[in-house]
Amino acid sequence: MEAGERTAASWSALLAAYTKAGWWADCLDSFAAMARDGWRPDESSMVSALSACAHLGAYDVGRSVHCALLRNTVTLNTFMETSLVDMYAKCGCIEKATAVFDGMDGKKNEWTYSAMVSGLALHGDGRKALQVALDADDEEKRSAVAAHSQKLAMAFGLLSTPEGTPVRVVTNLRMSKECHAYSALISEIFGREVVVRDRKRFHRFRRGTCSCGNYW
Ligand SMILES: [Zn+2]
Repeated sequence: MEAGERTAASWSALLAAYTKAGWWADCLDSFAAMARDGWRPDESSMVSALSACAHLGAYDVGRSVHCALLRNTVTLNTFMETSLVDMYAKCGCIEKATAVFDGMDGKKNEWTYSAMVSGLALHGDGRKALQVALDADDEEKRSAVAAHSQKLAMAFGLLSTPEGTPVRVVTNLRMSKECHAYSALISEIFGREVVVRDRKRFHRFRRGTCSCGNYW
Protein backbone atom coordinates (compact mmCIF):
# COMPACT_ATOMS: atom_id res chain seq x y z
CA MET A 1 0.00 0.00 0.00
CA GLU A 2 1.42 3.42 -0.95
CA ALA A 3 2.01 5.81 1.92
CA GLY A 4 -0.61 8.18 0.51
CA GLU A 5 -3.32 5.51 0.57
CA ARG A 6 -2.91 4.59 4.21
CA THR A 7 -5.52 5.50 6.80
CA ALA A 8 -5.68 5.13 10.58
CA ALA A 9 -7.95 2.14 9.99
CA SER A 10 -5.45 0.41 7.69
CA TRP A 11 -2.66 0.94 10.23
CA SER A 12 -4.88 -0.44 12.93
CA ALA A 13 -5.71 -3.51 10.81
CA LEU A 14 -2.01 -4.09 10.15
CA LEU A 15 -1.12 -3.92 13.86
CA ALA A 16 -3.97 -6.28 14.74
CA ALA A 17 -2.76 -8.74 12.08
CA TYR A 18 0.80 -8.68 13.46
CA THR A 19 -0.51 -9.20 17.00
CA LYS A 20 -2.65 -12.12 15.89
CA ALA A 21 0.34 -13.70 14.15
CA GLY A 22 2.56 -13.11 17.19
CA TRP A 23 4.88 -10.82 15.21
CA TRP A 24 5.40 -8.55 18.19
CA ALA A 25 8.49 -6.69 16.98
CA ASP A 26 6.83 -5.94 13.62
CA CYS A 27 3.82 -4.65 15.48
CA LEU A 28 5.92 -2.19 17.48
CA ASP A 29 7.92 -1.14 14.39
CA SER A 30 4.70 -0.32 12.56
CA PHE A 31 3.31 1.42 15.61
CA ALA A 32 6.37 3.71 15.59
CA ALA A 33 6.12 4.18 11.81
CA MET A 34 2.46 5.13 12.19
CA ALA A 35 3.39 7.90 14.62
CA ARG A 36 6.25 9.04 12.33
CA ASP A 37 3.77 9.37 9.46
CA GLY A 38 1.70 11.66 11.64
CA TRP A 39 -1.17 9.30 12.45
CA ARG A 40 -2.68 9.42 15.88
CA PRO A 41 -3.11 5.81 16.95
CA ASP A 42 -6.69 4.78 17.70
CA GLU A 43 -7.81 2.62 20.62
CA SER A 44 -7.35 -0.66 18.80
CA SER A 45 -3.81 0.25 17.65
CA MET A 46 -2.84 1.10 21.20
CA VAL A 47 -4.20 -2.16 22.56
CA SER A 48 -2.25 -4.07 19.87
CA ALA A 49 0.90 -2.16 20.80
CA LEU A 50 0.38 -2.88 24.51
CA SER A 51 0.01 -6.55 23.81
CA ALA A 52 3.27 -6.50 21.82
CA CYS A 53 5.01 -4.67 24.69
CA ALA A 54 3.74 -7.27 27.14
CA HIS A 55 5.21 -10.10 25.08
CA LEU A 56 8.51 -8.35 24.43
CA GLY A 57 8.87 -6.91 27.93
CA ALA A 58 9.15 -3.50 26.26
CA TYR A 59 8.42 -1.42 29.32
CA ASP A 60 9.45 2.01 27.95
CA VAL A 61 7.26 1.74 24.86
CA GLY A 62 4.40 0.39 26.97
CA ARG A 63 4.65 3.29 29.35
CA SER A 64 4.58 5.81 26.51
CA VAL A 65 1.45 4.11 25.14
CA HIS A 66 -0.09 4.45 28.59
CA CYS A 67 0.73 8.19 28.56
CA ALA A 68 -0.77 8.54 25.07
CA LEU A 69 -3.93 6.75 26.23
CA LEU A 70 -4.30 9.11 29.18
CA ARG A 71 -3.76 12.12 26.90
CA ASN A 72 -6.20 11.03 24.19
CA THR A 73 -8.96 9.26 26.04
CA VAL A 74 -11.32 10.60 28.65
CA THR A 75 -12.02 7.33 30.42
CA LEU A 76 -10.22 4.10 29.80
CA ASN A 77 -12.46 1.09 29.24
CA THR A 78 -11.98 -2.37 30.75
CA PHE A 79 -10.26 -3.66 27.62
CA MET A 80 -7.62 -0.91 27.68
CA GLU A 81 -7.02 -1.10 31.40
CA THR A 82 -6.71 -4.89 31.30
CA SER A 83 -4.13 -4.51 28.50
CA LEU A 84 -2.23 -2.10 30.76
CA VAL A 85 -2.35 -4.46 33.75
CA ASP A 86 -1.09 -7.28 31.51
CA MET A 87 1.68 -5.14 29.99
CA TYR A 88 3.01 -3.85 33.33
CA ALA A 89 2.74 -7.26 34.96
CA LYS A 90 4.57 -9.05 32.14
CA CYS A 91 7.25 -6.34 32.09
CA GLY A 92 7.84 -7.08 35.77
CA CYS A 93 6.49 -3.75 36.98
CA ILE A 94 4.08 -5.20 39.53
CA GLU A 95 3.58 -1.89 41.38
CA LYS A 96 2.22 -0.14 38.29
CA ALA A 97 0.13 -3.18 37.33
CA THR A 98 -1.35 -3.17 40.83
CA ALA A 99 -2.04 0.57 40.68
CA VAL A 100 -4.01 0.23 37.43
CA PHE A 101 -5.73 -2.92 38.75
CA ASP A 102 -6.75 -1.27 42.04
CA GLY A 103 -8.14 1.72 40.15
CA MET A 104 -10.54 -0.49 38.18
CA ASP A 105 -13.28 -0.68 40.77
CA GLY A 106 -16.26 -2.60 39.41
CA LYS A 107 -14.75 -2.77 35.91
CA LYS A 108 -12.66 -5.90 36.28
CA ASN A 109 -13.50 -8.99 34.26
CA GLU A 110 -12.02 -12.48 34.29
CA TRP A 111 -9.20 -11.41 31.96
CA THR A 112 -8.24 -8.60 34.30
CA TYR A 113 -7.96 -11.02 37.22
CA SER A 114 -6.16 -13.52 35.10
CA ALA A 115 -3.57 -10.91 33.98
CA MET A 116 -2.98 -9.76 37.56
CA VAL A 117 -2.80 -13.24 39.09
CA SER A 118 -0.41 -14.60 36.48
CA GLY A 119 1.74 -11.44 36.70
CA LEU A 120 2.06 -11.80 40.46
CA ALA A 121 2.76 -15.50 40.21
CA LEU A 122 5.35 -15.00 37.47
CA HIS A 123 7.25 -12.47 39.56
CA GLY A 124 7.17 -14.51 42.73
CA ASP A 125 4.46 -13.11 44.96
CA GLY A 126 2.48 -16.33 45.43
CA ARG A 127 0.66 -15.09 48.51
CA LYS A 128 -0.64 -11.93 46.81
CA ALA A 129 -1.54 -13.93 43.68
CA LEU A 130 -3.61 -16.23 45.82
CA GLN A 131 -5.32 -13.30 47.52
CA VAL A 132 -6.24 -11.71 44.18
CA ALA A 133 -7.49 -15.06 42.88
CA LEU A 134 -9.75 -15.40 45.89
CA ASP A 135 -10.93 -11.78 45.57
CA ALA A 136 -12.14 -12.74 42.09
CA ASP A 137 -14.58 -15.05 43.86
CA ASP A 138 -15.84 -12.25 46.03
CA GLU A 139 -16.21 -9.58 43.44
CA GLU A 140 -17.19 -11.38 40.30
CA LYS A 141 -19.17 -14.43 41.32
CA ARG A 142 -18.63 -15.77 37.84
CA SER A 143 -18.40 -19.51 37.78
CA ALA A 144 -15.65 -19.48 35.15
CA VAL A 145 -13.45 -17.20 37.22
CA ALA A 146 -14.29 -19.02 40.41
CA ALA A 147 -13.38 -22.40 39.00
CA HIS A 148 -10.21 -20.96 37.55
CA SER A 149 -9.22 -19.14 40.71
CA GLN A 150 -9.76 -22.17 42.90
CA LYS A 151 -7.40 -24.14 40.71
CA LEU A 152 -4.89 -21.32 40.85
CA ALA A 153 -5.26 -21.14 44.60
CA MET A 154 -4.40 -24.83 44.83
CA ALA A 155 -1.45 -24.43 42.50
CA PHE A 156 -0.08 -21.60 44.62
CA GLY A 157 -0.83 -23.54 47.76
CA LEU A 158 1.28 -26.37 46.38
CA LEU A 159 4.09 -24.05 45.41
CA SER A 160 4.24 -22.02 48.57
CA THR A 161 3.92 -24.70 51.26
CA PRO A 162 6.37 -27.43 52.28
CA GLU A 163 5.91 -30.89 50.81
CA GLY A 164 3.71 -33.14 52.88
CA THR A 165 1.67 -30.39 54.50
CA PRO A 166 -2.04 -30.06 53.65
CA VAL A 167 -3.08 -27.53 50.99
CA ARG A 168 -5.94 -25.39 52.26
CA VAL A 169 -8.40 -23.44 50.11
CA VAL A 170 -11.33 -21.39 51.34
CA THR A 171 -14.02 -20.26 48.92
CA ASN A 172 -17.41 -18.69 49.49
CA LEU A 173 -18.88 -20.50 46.49
CA ARG A 174 -20.15 -24.03 46.26
CA MET A 175 -17.44 -26.21 44.85
CA SER A 176 -17.97 -27.16 41.21
CA LYS A 177 -17.85 -30.76 40.01
CA GLU A 178 -14.79 -29.90 37.98
CA CYS A 179 -12.94 -28.48 40.97
CA HIS A 180 -13.92 -31.44 43.10
CA ALA A 181 -12.41 -33.80 40.54
CA TYR A 182 -9.36 -31.57 40.19
CA SER A 183 -8.78 -31.50 43.95
CA ALA A 184 -9.02 -35.28 44.13
CA LEU A 185 -6.47 -35.54 41.35
CA ILE A 186 -4.07 -33.12 43.06
CA SER A 187 -4.27 -35.09 46.31
CA GLU A 188 -3.38 -38.25 44.42
CA ILE A 189 -0.65 -36.95 42.12
CA PHE A 190 1.16 -34.82 44.67
CA GLY A 191 0.47 -37.05 47.63
CA ARG A 192 -0.81 -34.01 49.51
CA GLU A 193 -3.92 -33.67 51.58
CA VAL A 194 -6.19 -30.98 50.12
CA VAL A 195 -8.72 -29.31 52.37
CA VAL A 196 -11.35 -27.14 50.71
CA ARG A 197 -13.88 -25.21 52.71
CA ASP A 198 -16.66 -24.16 50.36
CA ARG A 199 -19.92 -22.37 51.12
CA LYS A 200 -21.54 -25.49 52.51
CA ARG A 201 -18.94 -27.79 54.04
CA PHE A 202 -15.41 -29.09 54.34
CA HIS A 203 -13.92 -31.41 51.77
CA ARG A 204 -10.85 -33.36 52.79
CA PHE A 205 -9.14 -35.09 49.87
CA ARG A 206 -6.67 -37.90 50.51
CA ARG A 207 -5.18 -40.19 47.86
CA GLY A 208 -7.76 -39.24 45.28
CA THR A 209 -10.91 -39.56 47.40
CA CYS A 210 -12.93 -37.03 49.32
CA SER A 211 -14.35 -37.22 52.82
CA CYS A 212 -17.76 -36.19 51.48
CA GLY A 213 -17.91 -39.39 49.41
CA ASN A 214 -18.76 -37.22 46.38
CA TYR A 215 -22.10 -36.19 47.92
CA TRP A 216 -22.33 -32.51 48.67
ZN1 LIG B 1 -16.01 -33.55 48.66
